[in-house]
Amino acid sequence: MTNIPILKEREKYIYCKGKEEFDFTCDTKSLAGSVSQRACVFCGSRVVLYPIADALHLIHGPIGCASYTWDIRGALSSGPELHRMSFSTDLRERDIIFGGEKKLYASLVQLIDTYRPNAAFVYCTCIIGIIGDDVDSVCKRVTEEKGIPVLPVHSEGFKGTKKDGYKAACESLSMLVGTGSVEDIGRYAINIMGEFNIAGEAWTIKEYYENMGLEVVAVFTGDGRVKNIKRSHGASLNVVQCSGSILRLAQIMEEKYGIPYIRVSYFGIEDMSKALYDVAAHFKDNLGIMKKTKEIVRNEIDAIYPDLLRYKKALSGRKAAIYVGGAFKAFSMIKALRSLGIDVVLAGSQTGNKDDYEVLRDMCDEGTVILDDANPLELSKYCIEKGADLFVGGVKERPIAYKLGIAFCDHNHERKISLAGYSGMINLAKEIYSSVLSPVWKFVPSKNDFLKKHDTEMMK
Ligand code: SF4
Repeated sequence: MTNIPILKEREKYIYCKGKEEFDFTCDTKSLAGSVSQRACVFCGSRVVLYPIADALHLIHGPIGCASYTWDIRGALSSGPELHRMSFSTDLRERDIIFGGEKKLYASLVQLIDTYRPNAAFVYCTCIIGIIGDDVDSVCKRVTEEKGIPVLPVHSEGFKGTKKDGYKAACESLSMLVGTGSVEDIGRYAINIMGEFNIAGEAWTIKEYYENMGLEVVAVFTGDGRVKNIKRSHGASLNVVQCSGSILRLAQIMEEKYGIPYIRVSYFGIEDMSKALYDVAAHFKDNLGIMKKTKEIVRNEIDAIYPDLLRYKKALSGRKAAIYVGGAFKAFSMIKALRSLGIDVVLAGSQTGNKDDYEVLRDMCDEGTVILDDANPLELSKYCIEKGADLFVGGVKERPIAYKLGIAFCDHNHERKISLAGYSGMINLAKEIYSSVLSPVWKFVPSKNDFLKKHDTEMMK
């Protein structure tokens, strides 16, 4: 056991699978005094909308909010790259006192005239909620004057958790859906949802579906185009990955247009294959789709299996900690790591709910620590106590791993390597192998040094 303390009020967000009863708290606002790994509401909305490449993204607020989310994600576009510009109204003290509506209007007009986008999203930051700018009216006026949809995103940073930002983004997207023609869309058509084309992943997934004989109407939102989103209500099925971020939109589309949805994951061989089979099973009136799916799965697995076995031999018996945004990704990661012979000793997420954590508890081995909305000290403590050799997380977890002197695999939106699909599984194995077996760990401070430093600081 380490001497790293845990805040008393945080104890109910941490569970060690074993003898204890599963009395677990999650899905609440972050605890004051705990340095949460979670981002703000505004950042949550950016996660969902950022990859729409032919839209203008204008952040209404001080420059710092825009800088915080400027082009840090690896969402690729096959065409326009307007999404990579992070425009801001750059509100100053005078605007805060007298209001920012005039500046917002002028910024929108100038940017739309200059860049000719197909739509514009206006993100409300904390200060907009405080000063009460009527963003909806400004957006409505510019929509009428410029003839493109200008959509407010009510993502004021203080009004909830990152999850509320996802919802705000879905509400904005729902205003675009249903405004395009669906005339030329066939019966076997789907939307790919919750796939953000990190390092080109959406292209890989889209190719699988097209090879199965399906038409992909829109991808929400990787390599996204406004025109496709507008006509996405013509699809027969919404295939939802990363459900925490986009499920609200799938629910709206089910209520409004009667489009059913299924939840999938594209990480790891098991979940990737299940996703393809589940989609094929939905179109059971077309036996050709299932036949092609079986061929795709067989060929893809045959192609990577020998290499996977080689990596598994080298990695068997290693221990991993997983801390990700959505719990669904954690489920896939546990299965993917198991297929490489790696045991998961810590698993947690920023936005999981009670149902998610029940699934996680059932999946995990005895002794695994499960955490919701964790902070760096908790993650460090349990990585040390459980002897993790590897941390799978995002940009905020990377320094934790390196300070502890353990391997790290970036599984978040900032990465530049595709980890989805069958080819992604090999990339994942290769990255983990390179990091875990790197000789560099012999030359960095060990976990014991970290603990000694921590204990010394506690004694002061
Ligand atoms: S918390 Fe508020 S001020 Fe900070 S980045 Fe988010 S929106 Fe901007």
